[in-house]
Amino acid sequence: MTPGSLNALRRDRELTALADGERVDLVVAGGGVTGAGIALDAAARGLSVALIEAYDLAYGTSRWSSKLVHGGLRYLAKGDLALAHESAVERGILMTRTAPHLTRALPQLFPLYRKTSRGQQAFIMTGLLAGDGLRRAAGTPASVLPRPRSIPAAEALALAPGLSPQGLRGALLAYDGALTDDARLVVNLARTAAARGAKILTKVEALRLDAESVLARDRLTGQEIEIHARQVINATGVWAGELAESVRLRPSRGSHLILAAGAAPIGATSVNVPVPGENNRFVFLLPQPDGRVFVGVTDEPTDGPVPRVPSVPESDVDFLLEVASTAFTRPLTRDDVAGSFAGLRPLVEGGGRSADLSRKHAVVTGADGVLTVVGGKLTTYRKMAEDAVDAALKRSGLLAGPSTTSRLPLLGATPRHRLSTVDASPRLVAKYGTEAPRVAALGEVDPELGLPLFDGAEISAAEVVWAVRHEGALDVEDVLERRTRLGLVIPDAEAARGRVQELVDKSLAGLA
Ligand SMILES: Cc1cc2nc3c(=O)[nH]c(=O)nc-3n(C[C@H](O)[C@H](O)[C@H](O)COP(=O)(O)OP(=O)(O)OC[C@H]3O[C@@H](n4cnc5c(N)ncnc54)[C@H](O)[C@@H]3O)c2cc1C
Repeated sequence: MTPGSLNALRRDRELTALADGERVDLVVAGGGVTGAGIALDAAARGLSVALIEAYDLAYGTSRWSSKLVHGGLRYLAKGDLALAHESAVERGILMTRTAPHLTRALPQLFPLYRKTSRGQQAFIMTGLLAGDGLRRAAGTPASVLPRPRSIPAAEALALAPGLSPQGLRGALLAYDGALTDDARLVVNLARTAAARGAKILTKVEALRLDAESVLARDRLTGQEIEIHARQVINATGVWAGELAESVRLRPSRGSHLILAAGAAPIGATSVNVPVPGENNRFVFLLPQPDGRVFVGVTDEPTDGPVPRVPSVPESDVDFLLEVASTAFTRPLTRDDVAGSFAGLRPLVEGGGRSADLSRKHAVVTGADGVLTVVGGKLTTYRKMAEDAVDAALKRSGLLAGPSTTSRLPLLGATPRHRLSTVDASPRLVAKYGTEAPRVAALGEVDPELGLPLFDGAEISAAEVVWAVRHEGALDVEDVLERRTRLGLVIPDAEAARGRVQELVDKSLAGLA
């Protein structure tokens, strides 16, 4: 085991120490990208930190994103230059320094049809050029994110052969950042924090917070534990209001569909289809490494109790299929849909339409002294974490240096130009970076582990063993839903379930 290994054994040991009265500098409630980012920021400054997560790392919104590492263009369109710049800077940090292995440049195609007015075309191109200005201002080289350009119809069709050629005049081509898997970023952050001593405790729910203690319940045993800290931080995303009365959120649901491989032939290029009648709104098709395509995204305010796992309403399915179909030769139907998922954006309450609400983050101090950090987005998690830890230091009087995370590569990271030299398949390198050969080696030592989980699966048994030994997976659902993402398509999850159960049981027994 390495210092960055998370597993059941380590969890038991660390939870027992806290239950026995060990006091830490910070306790963070919530194991999404924000909480994991805070744990890393704090641990990297030399603070002692415990993160408690009610279910699993990336259980909440962080696994339901579009997986884009935004350059901030949409914030620029709304006149928020500071937020746009922050987003572009954070994108550059992720793609060039902290997580080149988990990110890639995603080509984005904006098809231009005869019905697209010249005004609309100029509007999009102006936006893309401004976005490129943000890239330059953030210091991200064009070798990482190439400049936008106009391309002829033939080139657009070569990139995305499923596009309807009828009336296609050409296209605009730009680049933004994308993550292979959002849940993997969260797990990686948590492991990098653990490598610096952070206690990362999943299946531990915060029941009550105050400034310096948390009443928590171990969901595996039912035991209640009082955890003591110099400062408590609430990073429970869309659930933050359940633990902090003063925090008011207005969640907004975003749905995605998963199209079966081949249903919308777009190669490795994402396609942005304008929503008819709207100026600056697109439905986008995002190619996935397994050949499937995500179609997203809706943006609908939701009221009432916050569900643990949001569902996709039929109206969202209709909307996404209808808009996406306008750009394709063959209209997309429900038969093309292999799965779907929805997430809730933790937007800070304000007036106006949800699509127009700010994606800014906020660090709020409650009357009880608890710090809550909400809002923001995946791309800017690092800055949110830095701001939250700065606020915690100020409030608690703890002493530590400034944040170092903008220069701290995550586990498995290596400069982008070296990724191709890592001795493992590109699929494994995109998941595990420089750790990929260690995952592959499990399958070399025991050939059974080198086999796929089921016929036609890319994921091998070795990846399940790795998840239990090093990535904090404690049960089958952790593996299916968040370490492998097989759960996104129900027949895949069911085909793998039996074998995953065997592997999880055996791996857990092997830890003892
Ligand atoms: C549809 C959609 C698409 C998006 N696309 C993008 C995108 O492409 N790019 C981008 O940058 N951003 C995107 N975002 C935004 C981004 O996903 C979120 O801002 C971000 O994931 C929020 O992370 P978080 O850690 O604050 O919250 P969460 O990920 O929800 O984490 C909160 C955690 O707290 C835990 N928790 C709750 N209650 C308790 C408790 N009592 N005790 C302990 N733990 C608890 C939950 O289980 C959860 O794991 C998107 C959001 C949505 C909804």
